[in-house]
Amino acid sequence: MTTSSAPWQNWAGNVLASPSGRARPTTVAEVTAVVTEAADRGSRVKCVGAGHSFTPAAATDGVLVSLDDLTGIESIVPTLDADGRVDGADVTVWAGTRLHRLGPLLWDLGLAQPNLGDFAEQSLAGAVSTGTHGTGCSAPGLPATVVGLQLVTADGTALTCSRTSHQDVFEAARLGIGALGIITKMTIHCVPAFALRAEERPWTLSAALEDLEGFARSADHAEFFWFPHTDAVNVKRNTRLPGDTALRPVGRIRELVSDELLSNEVFGALCRAAARRPSLTPRLNRVASGALSARTFTDRSYRVFASPRRVRFREMEYAVPVDAASAVLRDLREAIDRSGIVTPFPVEVRFAAADDVWLSTAYRREVCYIAVHQFHLMDHTELFRLAEEIFLAAGGRPHWGKMHTRTAADLSHMIEHFGDFVSVRDRLDPDRVFGNTYTERVLP
Ligand SMILES: Cc1cc2nc3c(=O)[nH]c(=O)nc-3n(C[C@H](O)[C@H](O)[C@H](O)COP(=O)(O)OP(=O)(O)OC[C@H]3O[C@@H](n4cnc5c(N)ncnc54)[C@H](O)[C@@H]3O)c2cc1C
Repeated sequence: MTTSSAPWQNWAGNVLASPSGRARPTTVAEVTAVVTEAADRGSRVKCVGAGHSFTPAAATDGVLVSLDDLTGIESIVPTLDADGRVDGADVTVWAGTRLHRLGPLLWDLGLAQPNLGDFAEQSLAGAVSTGTHGTGCSAPGLPATVVGLQLVTADGTALTCSRTSHQDVFEAARLGIGALGIITKMTIHCVPAFALRAEERPWTLSAALEDLEGFARSADHAEFFWFPHTDAVNVKRNTRLPGDTALRPVGRIRELVSDELLSNEVFGALCRAAARRPSLTPRLNRVASGALSARTFTDRSYRVFASPRRVRFREMEYAVPVDAASAVLRDLREAIDRSGIVTPFPVEVRFAAADDVWLSTAYRREVCYIAVHQFHLMDHTELFRLAEEIFLAAGGRPHWGKMHTRTAADLSHMIEHFGDFVSVRDRLDPDRVFGNTYTERVLP
């Protein structure tokens, strides 16, 4: 372990912390040693992934542990369907592995993660620990694909858990917001490698809201970005195809223009202009939405799911019941227009299947995720306050890695297994070795 007074901040720059020390273990034994030594000294410990949460989930005043040296695939066990045919594999992956590195590793093995978010810098354990999701009415979030994990607990035990071993720890730790210990490896169910045919095109919010559920089911993975202060949306529909489909990826030049220039460089310039002259934002949003033209391409799944995001922003995202989502979006549009608040960032609308993960935002209900963003140089407070009010009125639940104001008292009424989670935590970490300011707010 190194003692370092260097401050830490998350990707968005809205969370700052001063860890008392840092550790970069390379084995499970070293993780155990870091935890027990810190616990003996009365110091707290927190594992950080890529630091991409907008909440202070990974912040600590104690020892900040990075698993950047605990990466890669450990083992693969083929799995069979009910008819005895191989339907994928359970793959054990070291917890610090970044998702953008895992995609190519799995592809070379003929495998893929069934679903991903729209970005892949995160570590596997970090993404799973906050309930990271993608889009698709038949596609649950990442925690639902976890079938086992190894957790180093506060007393230094390396506990292996699954549905058949330490089941309650498994149910809690597969979305544990870093509060139960350090996950050193995870076994995730992977499917045979598949391609995605992506169709992107401009549309209108008014048309999308006429039949939002129909839109949600119009492709395996459907989503759209709505540009506030306009009726413009950019729709993305991804259709799953077999892994040996002939690929027609975006050409290098088109990729440079569309993903790098329009989605990052030009978009960043528009955001800076909006920060300087907020009254220009509606006009800038019309320019930004108009610049994104229709395109169709087919590529490996992990390349289609995720794109680079270089313009820094703040984000709040809630999962609302699918049948409430149209009304929520209408209310949000009205509230933004009425308030005079401006944002150059699109509102992102995605969907997920119900799952059975205790702390999941999609626990036992199909959901629509609605995310509001603000450019990092503009004030997000009022926009997020009014959006949160609307999300909560619709029975929404906050994403654990994105900004929200809920406390343990609120969450205990929203989450069926909140008490079960707390019991597991009380048993595994009575002294709150893995506590931080975030867990102090969202857990008792
Ligand atoms: C640009 C951008 C795009 C995003 N896109 C999406 C998206 O498409 N969908 C979505 O749902 N979310 C998205 N997010 C949110 C992001 O996926 C989550 O916040 C995720 O947790 C970040 O992963 P991370 O590795 O950076 O974790 P961190 O932020 O570093 O940590 C998150 C939590 O995980 C814990 N943790 C990390 N590693 C371990 C471990 N080994 N053991 C135990 N606990 C651990 C930490 O202690 C912390 O509590 C996005 C965020 C950004 C900034």
